[in-house]
Amino acid sequence: ATGTPMLELNNVHTYYGHIHALKGISMTVNQGEIVALIGGNGAGKTTTLRTISGMMKPKSGTLTYMGRNAAGVPAHLIMQQGMSHVPEGRRIFPQLTVRENLEVGAYTVGDRKVIEQRIQEGFQFFPRLKERENQLGGTMSGGEQQMLAIARALMVNPKLLLLDEPSMGLSPLFVEAIFDIIQLLNKERGTTVLLVEQNANMALGIAHRAYVLQTGEIKLSGKASDIAKDESVRKAYLGED
Ligand code: ATP
Repeated sequence: ATGTPMLELNNVHTYYGHIHALKGISMTVNQGEIVALIGGNGAGKTTTLRTISGMMKPKSGTLTYMGRNAAGVPAHLIMQQGMSHVPEGRRIFPQLTVRENLEVGAYTVGDRKVIEQRIQEGFQFFPRLKERENQLGGTMSGGEQQMLAIARALMVNPKLLLLDEPSMGLSPLFVEAIFDIIQLLNKERGTTVLLVEQNANMALGIAHRAYVLQTGEIKLSGKASDIAKDESVRKAYLGED
């Protein structure tokens, strides 16, 4: 972590109609960091990612990505500036093969050679996908689909990767594999990661810093190792009493 802010939210409020989902969120993600965003059901984790990636527009507050205003900037333009969002529930294309899914992920990349090179890089990170290159996405296991969703997001060579609950519904072995890859991406490529997780233990294990979200507000923030030791966090999110 270099301490250079890549993403900054300041007092961000986001609504679904009359539902006030984010009630003044302020947070920073520095270049080179893995930042975890944890919290219970309905806390606003997904909404925070949607607001950052341009899927939703905040009603007020400021959102800055790479030094520029990003509030309400459409998702495809934000993506062109190096941000990639892997949404909850791994929305891969079930009727397309693994390779085709990756090609779709690269639709903003014009150069055929670059696309092929990135597909091969993806296969290096996820050898399991290489073995299944021509298999239909929808026929793969949950863990394999999550790998594909991440590999697809990597096709644009993102500077900032937003991951929404990558461990959801996966067996412990797959959870380990996914978290290993997130760490590898961060260490080897310097990809900055904002990670939303219900699996607080795992997320805090790989993150540098963390924010705890509760009913649309940041309740706690700090070094991930300190958050992991916090009594209230342990009780609420790490299943201790
Ligand atoms: P979970 O871990 O359960 O997915 P979350 O922390 O990601 O929860 P959000 O999905 O961001 O929480 O939801 C925040 C609040 O916004 C909740 O009260 C939720 O009911 C509400 N909300 C989310 N999506 C919508 C929507 N499409 N329409 C209306 N309200 C919504």
